[in-house]
Amino acid sequence: MDLVQLRNEDPTQPFVATLLHDSYCRKGGSCECQQESYQAAVQNPVTGAVGLRDGLRAQPKGVSIGVGKTSEPFARCVVKVPGFKEAIQAGRLAVIPVVPVAPPSPPAVEPPRVRGRRESASSE
Ligand SMILES: [Zn+2]
Repeated sequence: MDLVQLRNEDPTQPFVATLLHDSYCRKGGSCECQQESYQAAVQNPVTGAVGLRDGLRAQPKGVSIGVGKTSEPFARCVVKVPGFKEAIQAGRLAVIPVVPVAPPSPPAVEPPRVRGRRESASSE
């Protein structure tokens, strides 16, 4: 995925916005919303008894970037999310492409040295 980081260029104000599901998650292909549990009162239509039902609802993720700070990586579509878009256009947020870092090559595994082979060379 194409990732960018955002740096708050505003000299005084921290940047605060919300990653709206419709404009970020759906375009970015992964939902960043936080699932928040809640309880809802439900009335039984037959008995009239009111009970509590547990449920989960998605809360859009809030983002706050301190003055001069750089955010965590976001999917590139963050630049189109309302709030972010305006700040980027106004120069209050700088978009920094995240260069994918090649995974470190695994340490070279040396084949175990077999000792004593030389001595066992055939003596004809
Ligand atoms: Zn979402």
